[in-house]
Amino acid sequence: MKFVPEKKPIYEETLDSLSERIAEGGEKPFRAKQVMEWLYKKRVGSWDEMTNLPKSFREWLDNEYEIAPAKQVLMKQAGDVTDKLLLQLGDGSLIETVIIRVPQEGVGLEHSRKTVCISTQVGCAFGCKFCASGLDGWKRNLSAGEIVAQLLQVCFLEDARTPRARPEIPSFDNIVVMGMGEPLANYDNLLAALKIVNADWGLNFGARRITVSTSGVVPQIKRLAEEPFQFRLAISLHGATNEVREQIMPINKRWPLEELLPAAKQFSRKQGRMLTLEYILIEDINDQLEQAERLAEIALDLRAHVNLIPYNTVEGLPWKRPNILRQDRFVSVLKDRGASVTIRREKGHEINAACGQLRLQTEKELRATGA
Ligand code: SAH
Ligand code: SF4
Repeated sequence: MKFVPEKKPIYEETLDSLSERIAEGGEKPFRAKQVMEWLYKKRVGSWDEMTNLPKSFREWLDNEYEIAPAKQVLMKQAGDVTDKLLLQLGDGSLIETVIIRVPQEGVGLEHSRKTVCISTQVGCAFGCKFCASGLDGWKRNLSAGEIVAQLLQVCFLEDARTPRARPEIPSFDNIVVMGMGEPLANYDNLLAALKIVNADWGLNFGARRITVSTSGVVPQIKRLAEEPFQFRLAISLHGATNEVREQIMPINKRWPLEELLPAAKQFSRKQGRMLTLEYILIEDINDQLEQAERLAEIALDLRAHVNLIPYNTVEGLPWKRPNILRQDRFVSVLKDRGASVTIRREKGHEINAACGQLRLQTEKELRATGA
């Protein structure tokens, strides 16, 4: 199903495309630059706030464009560390955007480093057995504008909360594309959005601070390797042999490790960037020490960093994380073999921060109440 909004979302335009459209509308094309300034440097959320634009032009913009493609319907906080935003799109679909703060010594939390996690699809078609995002299947791709709008929504919140010396620069430090959906299955919209985020007339946010996470869509990894942007890549491995991986990730049947690992290597060679291998630890499924050994070999071969994530329980799914002792043993095997590894004692557990969980829960509640 393709959702076609009545008006075009403004966050989908580039400086060039907006200039063209403005010229076609009989307005002055240089105004495109002014509009972009208001959207991405001053970051206002309505046409009326764009005070140096003539009223007639603001009316024209209002007729042509949608400026609010996402509405915040819920915010959940875990301590001061994680904020999870549930956003409603024009067609009523719900998506999740998360702000994760990394506490730093001597700095108030409002000034700590922040990572924003964005979604790229409503639901997910890949059906990994442990993941809440795929439980209800795939609904649709997000448009480029809806992907950009998530970051703007975070800016609106943070701009109000954290006064800064250079307000034109967004207050977050990293973007991770690890929310709901498989980013590389929505490649064109993702790239269009990230180009806007990266552009000097846009959010002017460095590609090197953007990480795209994939469950392993091999042809698109190869395509991303050829792009002139130096995005970071994270691969959701979760199994170090085909046997273990295909039990929990159906995508492994389509692109098994013998195809995925060379594509990952090609990416890191082309882009000159260190990859991250994500590995969720699930008790008795993928936490055996032989898996750790094989994972260490893979990481050393790819010169990748391993990010271990103790499994976050999902309602309705049988999996659980191994105890701390087993987690530590797994880490030791990797360390002893010289692999670069961190274990994420993840934040936000108590607000269902694992991808797709908040949406799933809210949709269940809405269904239960007949809303
Ligand atoms: N589709 C992409 C990006 C979104 S998922 C991908 O799979 O990489 C982002 C990360 O969250 C993935 O590594 C995914 O495996 C992980 N994840 C999903 N469910 C989880 C859970 N219940 N606990 C911990 N991590 C989970
Ligand atoms: Fe989709 Fe990623 Fe969840 Fe797998 S882990 S179902 S690819 S969102």
